[in-house]
Amino acid sequence: MTGTAFDCEIAIVGAGPYGLSAAAHLRAAGMDVTVFGEPMNFWANGMPAGMLLRSPREASTISDQRSAFTLEAYETASGTNPVKRVAWETFVAYGKWFQKQLDCNLEQRSVFEVRRNGSGFKLTLADGAAITSKKVVVAAGIGPFRKAPEVFSNLSPTRASHCYEGRKFSELGKRVAVIGAGQSALESAAILHEIGIDVEVIARTQVLRWIGMHMRLHRLGPISKALYSKYDVGPIGISRLVAYPNLVYHVPIRLKDRIRTRAVRSAGAPWLIPRLQNVKISTGRTVISAKEIDGEVQLQLDDRTERRVDHILMATGYRVDIAKYKFLAPELVREVRQLDGYPDVTAGFATSVPGLHFIGATAARKFGPLMYFVAGTEFASKELTSALRRDRR
Ligand SMILES: Cc1cc2nc3c(=O)[nH]c(=O)nc-3n(C[C@H](O)[C@H](O)[C@H](O)COP(=O)(O)OP(=O)(O)OC[C@H]3O[C@@H](n4cnc5c(N)ncnc54)[C@H](O)[C@@H]3O)c2cc1C
Repeated sequence: MTGTAFDCEIAIVGAGPYGLSAAAHLRAAGMDVTVFGEPMNFWANGMPAGMLLRSPREASTISDQRSAFTLEAYETASGTNPVKRVAWETFVAYGKWFQKQLDCNLEQRSVFEVRRNGSGFKLTLADGAAITSKKVVVAAGIGPFRKAPEVFSNLSPTRASHCYEGRKFSELGKRVAVIGAGQSALESAAILHEIGIDVEVIARTQVLRWIGMHMRLHRLGPISKALYSKYDVGPIGISRLVAYPNLVYHVPIRLKDRIRTRAVRSAGAPWLIPRLQNVKISTGRTVISAKEIDGEVQLQLDDRTERRVDHILMATGYRVDIAKYKFLAPELVREVRQLDGYPDVTAGFATSVPGLHFIGATAARKFGPLMYFVAGTEFASKELTSALRRDRR
């Protein structure tokens, strides 16, 4: 209890890296926090099993106020051998361990609805229980924002799925077409190939791009440090800027949009190149029709060629649109000032609805592309905590 009319002071919706990090910082500042959701649910159940983190180790730590619960601290505590490329299952276990170190309430139930309630909010949980909170921090990730090309909309879910649905790759069939040219597409194709599935990548882009192709620029010691931040988000120069979300915040929105889209454009990690050597990759091609015929999917491409596959795996990214968070009451979504689906957050990740904050990918339009990555948890949690501390005073 908070000593006020509310059941809790701060309710955080989502127990992924951003929600857990915010909880750590807010608790350390003496605030009463309850986190809602299954810890690391999206990472455990939404990501393709077998993937490796694209982000470097230094950029894969979930922030806490004393930097006590780092990835290294987890590896030491659990006896996990530190490796250069962090495996997906290590990161899931790390996030769950991080949560256990926190001294805050965790409600493993999903939030079914958030609506205004006087000067605060009412949260209804999936089992019907209701809780009131003075403030709500939405840290619900990108799960509902998956983009699916219209051409596949008539296919049944057994024949077409998005790579963030967490479907078991071994159950997709013998022939799979992967749509896309980013890390998710290329890594999914590599994993499918390695488990013996006949896979083809179909991408609109004429040429695949690879991250860090100027590797020699990363090996120039202090010069490289001046050119790239340790988070390694974005190309030369931009990488330094995006490491400072409070600077990015002041960049005019059009330029900021260009920086953001450039920093996260579709590209694969170079360590995928050898793994894709025997995978068919068709670039410069668009699927113009997709039909289910006799238990398979028939694809027509724009070069008039045809493919027959058992499954379409869409690795076609996501688009932030907070109206897709079904747990936010529609009237609450309407009250939030937005920029094309992103909440127009200001300092402290505050929205136009007093007491309602958004962190993570939904804040990237204002604070830049670092907010799409785990590396952004440090800035987001510190900024949020200072703002909520000020509000309290
Ligand atoms: C394939 C893929 C690979 C990636 N690789 C990397 C990488 O290598 N490095 C990196 O930094 N980032 C990577 N990312 C980005 C990654 O998604 C973010 O870095 C990170 O997950 C953001 O954390 P988050 O807490 O904002 O979101 P999430 O991790 O998505 O956590 C949000 C949580 O909120 C929960 N939730 C949603 N709605 C509710 C509700 N109503 N009630 C309760 N809980 C709810 C969800 O279940 C979810 O567990 C990758 C993303 C994808 C899709």
